[in-house]
Amino acid sequence: MAFGWIDEQARARRRAGLVRTLRPRPADSPLLDLASNDYLGLSRHPEVAEGAAAAARTWGGGSTGSRLVTGTTELHTELERELAEFCGFEAALVFSSGYAANLAAVTALAPHGSLIVSDAGNHASLIDGCRLARGTTQVVAHADPDAVRKALGTHDGPAVAVSDTVFSVDGDAAPLAGLAAACREHGAGLVVDDAHGLGVLGNGGRGAPYAVGLAGAEDVVVTVTLSKSLGSQGGAVLGPARVIDHLVNAARTFIFDTGLAPAAAGAALAALRLLRREPERAARAREVASELHGRLTAAGLEAVRPDAAVVSVRAPSPEEAVQWAADCRSAGLAVGCFRPPSVPDGISRLRLTARADLSGAELDRAVRVIGETRP
Ligand code: PMP
Repeated sequence: MAFGWIDEQARARRRAGLVRTLRPRPADSPLLDLASNDYLGLSRHPEVAEGAAAAARTWGGGSTGSRLVTGTTELHTELERELAEFCGFEAALVFSSGYAANLAAVTALAPHGSLIVSDAGNHASLIDGCRLARGTTQVVAHADPDAVRKALGTHDGPAVAVSDTVFSVDGDAAPLAGLAAACREHGAGLVVDDAHGLGVLGNGGRGAPYAVGLAGAEDVVVTVTLSKSLGSQGGAVLGPARVIDHLVNAARTFIFDTGLAPAAAGAALAALRLLRREPERAARAREVASELHGRLTAAGLEAVRPDAAVVSVRAPSPEEAVQWAADCRSAGLAVGCFRPPSVPDGISRLRLTARADLSGAELDRAVRVIGETRP
């Protein structure tokens, strides 16, 4: 039977208690949200919603074509200019998702004969970029500039190191300055995914590369998503103008994909302008993360010290992690649950988001529920 083999996979998944299901979120959900990536609480901000609505009224429900044909509106170019300026880079290119931006950056910057040195904890979209690229990938130990240096030393020809700035699973930060130094010793480029850093790290949320003085460097390329701190949808690559021009000409997920929907571009632009006006939102997200970590630790839970707004809590097993998250939900709290195969090290976690707009009372409630439902 066609696709018969998927039934065996489904049975194995059920036996392991690891079946994934979709649960529609009601617009007026009563759950306290520590699961979304809406780090600054901007996705439902009236100015952001109006940015989307106004863009849709002006430009329509979709962008109508690929960016190189009809899919570039004035909104797209404005967003690119303002994003690049905010994060301190020469130029930016907007994509329909952060996933597509990562596929573009890695594939277009790792030609045949090149080496890609990839952190073992990188996001799936960077991993898939490595798989699609013509270059050869070497996966190196997590957050280890010496491992990157050693790998780069084995190769003659174009090379690039690829890393998340803040890792999605544990919320720990990459040693960006060390990675940049290792790359420079070998004339290699550095591509970093700042999905969890934009809007949270760096002065006023200008991102992790900005925070360590790498913004605008000629050998650094940054990818971001518009779907987390900016509360919209879409992605972007930031870097030197010559790299961005190269992507326009060579990146398949730019050339062959329909341009970002105008509503998403309008929402992201509104959120970016809001963040410029209210830069304290970024610091607040970091404060909430540190506060959440402190309260979890005081309650005897094993939480990783956060470097941005992601807080990870260890669970004893995949099954118990799934049950723990379900029990939290029953008690009115939405939390993320990371377990194999989504985690490379096999350790299951609850994954919490320290939203900038969480109150002290909400943090208390969240920690109490997590403590009371612990396996
Ligand atoms: N990179 C990282 C580190 C992410 O966490 C995500 C989102 N899960 C992405 C890239 C993909 O971004 P998007 O959701 O915009 O496709």
